[in-house]
Amino acid sequence: MDRRNFLKTLAILSLYAPFLRLNSFSNQRIVVIGAGIIGTTIAYELSKLGVITTLIDKKFPGSGSTGSSFNWINATYPKTPYAYNYLAQLGITHFKKLENELDFPIKWNGSLEWTNSINSQKNLIKDVNHLMDYPTHTRHNIIDYIQASTYEPNINFFGNENIVFSEDDAALNTDKFIQVLVDKIKFNGVNVLNNCEFKNIKSNKNKILSINTSQGEIQADQVVFACGIDTNKIFNKTFLKPPTPGIIIKSKPYKTVINRIIYGPGIHFYQQEDGRIIIGEQGILSASEFKTSQNYPPRFKSKSVELKYINKIRNIGKKFFNQINQLEFEEIKIGWRPIPLDEKPILGRLSYNTNIYLASMHSAISLAPIVGKYIAKELVEKTKIPLLNNFRPERFF
Ligand SMILES: Cc1cc2nc3c(=O)[nH]c(=O)nc-3n(C[C@H](O)[C@H](O)[C@H](O)COP(=O)(O)OP(=O)(O)OC[C@H]3O[C@@H](n4cnc5c(N)ncnc54)[C@H](O)[C@@H]3O)c2cc1C
Repeated sequence: MDRRNFLKTLAILSLYAPFLRLNSFSNQRIVVIGAGIIGTTIAYELSKLGVITTLIDKKFPGSGSTGSSFNWINATYPKTPYAYNYLAQLGITHFKKLENELDFPIKWNGSLEWTNSINSQKNLIKDVNHLMDYPTHTRHNIIDYIQASTYEPNINFFGNENIVFSEDDAALNTDKFIQVLVDKIKFNGVNVLNNCEFKNIKSNKNKILSINTSQGEIQADQVVFACGIDTNKIFNKTFLKPPTPGIIIKSKPYKTVINRIIYGPGIHFYQQEDGRIIIGEQGILSASEFKTSQNYPPRFKSKSVELKYINKIRNIGKKFFNQINQLEFEEIKIGWRPIPLDEKPILGRLSYNTNIYLASMHSAISLAPIVGKYIAKELVEKTKIPLLNNFRPERFF
């Protein structure tokens, strides 16, 4: 066969991908519970391996923390120790592969970070220097306000001589990313069920028979739980801290004024390709503001409360980003962070039933592609990838 015909045949084969369960994993049935960025990327990787996969969500893909995240992809200084930071570095590398695979371009313009108190600024630089001592790390430079202003002429850096420029960072349009993944996995033959809530597992010792859901029974050999803040409730066990809230505001499209992720004192933001500016805050909102912190509301209860927080955020932002006053806002959400007790990812099979796999973490936007790939491999090959050994659920038992 000449090269042209070979490529033609490959193209035809790829069109029929859903029907080609040609590999040795074809008999396995895996149900992934939770269609956030973690569950969706696991389902995507499983679908590439030809596994019979079902992805369920009690609401819809991206309806949990993933839909109200700031979406910063990074491997910066808060990710310690090295094992965790290294996983995040691999996350960046793997995102770049996915960009090509899914034809989903991401703008890798980096981030600029500084604080406004001398002490916290000293600590920031200390943390960055510690990161630079790791055997491998993403690119970080300390730049002054003159250089920073050439990158971001609309930001006032107030003569700051020590701004952290993390060149390898990016912001993900996660809503779009999830949509692309869901389309792709459906094409690959994954059964995606919305409004389908996990109830319990039917098993015989270590062997799983099926799971019960609000939409009936689903046959399964292995089950993956990627349920974000619902993890504790599902297992009736404390893996995660009480979730902490964060406000995410989206502006209407605005002329291009920001090129990078700006992590300034009190608020952080970036501008999407469509002109919308996405803003997050640092510590304005606390869980104690909600009477019953158990129901984790995704929105404020009234327009007037929304306005109160928008004004707070404007007042902080206008000190260094004057144009925040001209922005009109079209969406304000409250996101709830799934944070493991020790703040490190939880990845692995449960010792009391090794056909149950748990995947829960903060920073899942940064980690999802690499973690999704490794988890799929561990599930189908029944192996243990050494890089994940620092993050096993056994530490909670
Ligand atoms: C304000 C904010 C800012 C953040 N910023 C960043 C950032 O910049 N970078 C970063 O990397 N991370 C960030 N994070 C964290 C990141 O968003 C989360 O780690 C990530 O979204 C978790 O993804 P997940 O798939 O594990 O969980 P989720 O997205 O919460 O998905 C879990 C899914 O499980 C479903 N589910 C739950 N229970 C059941 C059940 N019984 N049956 C069926 N389905 C069920 C839910 O409906 C949900 O859709 C931020 C989070 C917040 C809140």
